[in-house]
Amino acid sequence: MDFLLTEENRMWRARARDVAEKVVRPLSWKYDRLQQYPWEIKDALVEAGLFGVWIPKEYGGHGGGVLNLCIVVEELSRCCGGVGVLFAVNALGSFPILVGGTEEQKKKWLPRIAQGKTLIAFGLSEKNAGSDAGGMSCRATQDGEHYVLNGAKKWNTNGGAADLYSIFCVTDPESKSRRISALLVEKGTPGFKIGKVEDKMGIRCVPVVELEFENCRVPRANLLGGEPGYGFRHSMQTLDLARPGVAAQAVGLATGALELAQVYANKREQFGAPISSFQMVQAMLADMATKVEAARQLVYAAARAADTVTCAIIRSRSSCATRRSFRSTKARIRSSGWSSRETSSRRRTS
Ligand SMILES: Cc1cc2nc3c(=O)[nH]c(=O)nc-3n(C[C@H](O)[C@H](O)[C@H](O)COP(=O)(O)OP(=O)(O)OC[C@H]3O[C@@H](n4cnc5c(N)ncnc54)[C@H](O)[C@@H]3O)c2cc1C
Repeated sequence: MDFLLTEENRMWRARARDVAEKVVRPLSWKYDRLQQYPWEIKDALVEAGLFGVWIPKEYGGHGGGVLNLCIVVEELSRCCGGVGVLFAVNALGSFPILVGGTEEQKKKWLPRIAQGKTLIAFGLSEKNAGSDAGGMSCRATQDGEHYVLNGAKKWNTNGGAADLYSIFCVTDPESKSRRISALLVEKGTPGFKIGKVEDKMGIRCVPVVELEFENCRVPRANLLGGEPGYGFRHSMQTLDLARPGVAAQAVGLATGALELAQVYANKREQFGAPISSFQMVQAMLADMATKVEAARQLVYAAARAADTVTCAIIRSRSSCATRRSFRSTKARIRSSGWSSRETSSRRRTS
């Protein structure tokens, strides 16, 4: 089905496959076992120009959008699921800036993320707020030109390795629809520390940790979008853009597993012949290949739809940052065929 891909898509696939085969595959076993962040792999991904594939050109990226992001994630995950996550989580962390940041915030952070100089993480989930993300309790109160952040985040992928964190928190506990905002919190901010580090069964080369905030003073300039109350909306828009990337990890892993199964079936001999010569084994491999290809096409279709939505959101956000602009964003998104039903009661099931 490669004929559905553009020249640009094929270029990203080739580039990602090259670094995945030469650098990721030989090293993945080591870092998975050690459960350590593979800085040498991250440097190789930066060197290959893969960071920022999803970031628009005007902010120093390659303008490849969600589809090319998925293609890169798929290729990396084909060799190591952990490296696929390590890479994709930077898109997850930066999507809030892309969909909700002010022009100044985009210009300040996105070029650095595109160059791989700033690693970013996404902090939404809490111990008691998983699928029900809107039920979070992490709290930020305004104090002059700062927000004072208190509380904790759970399951933070890239935590500890990242330099910047999109942290969703309650800024108006009384409000039903404008309760949550997002703050961009820099590593090293006093009152911010890394808590428990999870010991995981898989994707072990990328850390998943708890984040703790105790009277952590974050400059008001780091309030995403410059206006409080839009955090939940931005978090849901972020997840809509990031989910195809998660599915691309699964497609990449499945592709890698299928390839290994083929190698094994050709090598393993029973009754004097490779087991791949037996009809039922061939049928199993054919079924696997069919399912993987179907999943791939579904992911690409979702990514293409997400790219349409991103364009609508970015155009709206860059033109104005007031309440009115959100109404026009909504209208544009609807006209692009994407209906975000963001309400305070919307549930997340990831
Ligand atoms: C390895 C890993 C990395 C992660 N990285 C991040 C990260 O970087 N940033 C971040 O913010 N979060 C992260 N998460 C958190 C992840 O997004 C949550 O695990 C997810 O939102 C689900 O929350 P939960 O685990 O608390 O499950 P729960 O919300 O407790 O759900 C438990 C089960 O109940 C089901 N369920 C819940 N509500 C409903 C309902 N209304 N109807 C029917 N079924 C329902 C769920 O589908 C699930 O099967 C990560 C999690 C893991 C495991």
